[in-house]
Amino acid sequence: MTHATKDTEVLIVGAGAGGLILALSLKEIGIQCRVYDAVPELTAVGVGINLLPHAVRELDELGLVPALDEVGIRTKDASYYNRFGQHIFTEPAGEAAGYPWPQFSLHRGDMQMVFLNAVRERLGEDSVVTGHRLTHVDLGDDTVTAHFIGPNGEDLPSVRASVLVGADGIKSALRKQFYPDEGDPLYSGLTIWRGATPMPPFLSGANTVRMGWMSVGKLMVYPIRNNIDGQGNQLMNFVATLERPRPDLYDWNAKGRLEDFFPTFKDWHFDFLDVPGMLQKTDPILIYPMVDRDPLPTWTFGRATLLGDAAHPMYPRGSNGAGQAILDARILAGSFKRHGVTDEALHEYDVTRVEATGKVVRMNRANPPDAILREVHERSGDKPFERLSDIVSDEELRAITERYKTVAGFQVDQLKRRRSLV
Ligand SMILES: Cc1cc2nc3c(=O)[nH]c(=O)nc-3n(C[C@H](O)[C@H](O)[C@H](O)COP(=O)(O)OP(=O)(O)OC[C@H]3O[C@@H](n4cnc5c(N)ncnc54)[C@H](O)[C@@H]3O)c2cc1C
Repeated sequence: MTHATKDTEVLIVGAGAGGLILALSLKEIGIQCRVYDAVPELTAVGVGINLLPHAVRELDELGLVPALDEVGIRTKDASYYNRFGQHIFTEPAGEAAGYPWPQFSLHRGDMQMVFLNAVRERLGEDSVVTGHRLTHVDLGDDTVTAHFIGPNGEDLPSVRASVLVGADGIKSALRKQFYPDEGDPLYSGLTIWRGATPMPPFLSGANTVRMGWMSVGKLMVYPIRNNIDGQGNQLMNFVATLERPRPDLYDWNAKGRLEDFFPTFKDWHFDFLDVPGMLQKTDPILIYPMVDRDPLPTWTFGRATLLGDAAHPMYPRGSNGAGQAILDARILAGSFKRHGVTDEALHEYDVTRVEATGKVVRMNRANPPDAILREVHERSGDKPFERLSDIVSDEELRAITERYKTVAGFQVDQLKRRRSLV
């Protein structure tokens, strides 16, 4: 059934970080919208995620920082070690690095619930509709009609809007309709096991530490909730990465097995962290292939466009997935503010973000921050070093992270200088 009149001005498909921040941003500028998600109920799923200062700036403008402070951790620094426990590099993060905005390390579910609660409070309970899986859209001249099925595959009434935004994640139905020949996401040859478990704080108590290198096992560890048991323990998140010839299912909730990756890490001894102990007591462990997709030439067809992982899924090597989705949302809202809900606004959004996010996707393949680990691994021949300065200088290491910050849009001076997006 197609309604003759519009049901909503902007129809957002997907209640992840991208979709929810777009809803909050549209409310801020007085544009009516509604969010539809496939799941019957939105629950706090996932494990750890990082929000870097360029994203937190946007969340601050939406008044969300106090709620994030209640659930997450203000990150103080980022460290890099080789697999023999030797320190390579540490740099300050968030406010400690001179940003006027913090970096947050937190549980993805906590993040999503902060955003969802704000949407329900500010836009009303009926602004987020669950149990609606988008199947396809019909494009009109200045409208778009969305077709949905319910949890049991039943047809649901279609919904008509001035603009539809597909923020429906890496398996986006809208992207599939626009690019039917694209196929599966592209497997990097690397698989990720992740999980979280109570552990005592290490180093600064708010550090993101990266260790090892892909070919010999890479590990990233960071706390995502403080004092979870009244005894000072934190919920510690880990992401273990190993080469694996074939990808597993692209299912964010798929369970992995300890024995498939533990042997690589069983002898890792760090004076600040019991790696084998942490891995052994984590339950559940989730598995996900490291995938992305090639950048697209355009995200916009008629009155429908893509946003977030639907538009530019990227390797999770620079803590930028949620951040780039949030930037998309704010830039799209800014275009609507300037041009109204029009073709012109969609065009401006498309040309700006397709190019900018394409650079981040490519940078995440070649030289994300963990390229620091690659340099030391290769130059040391994967052996303990006597003196780090004999193989790499501090300036070289700093240049890797600074280049990444510039491309991803969070180099400190660049971020302080840039104007508000909405
Ligand atoms: C279940 C889940 C767990 C995750 N866990 C982690 C994690 O632990 N760490 C991490 O760094 N990243 C995780 N991610 C990815 C991370 O959330 C994103 O990379 C990032 O936040 C960008 O968000 P997004 O809004 O573009 O997409 P997503 O966060 O993927 O949100 C997409 C939303 O669209 C909905 N959707 C999908 N298809 C349809 C459809 N056809 N119709 C309607 N709705 C649809 C999904 O239910 C989901 O709510 C997870 C994503 C998901 C969906």
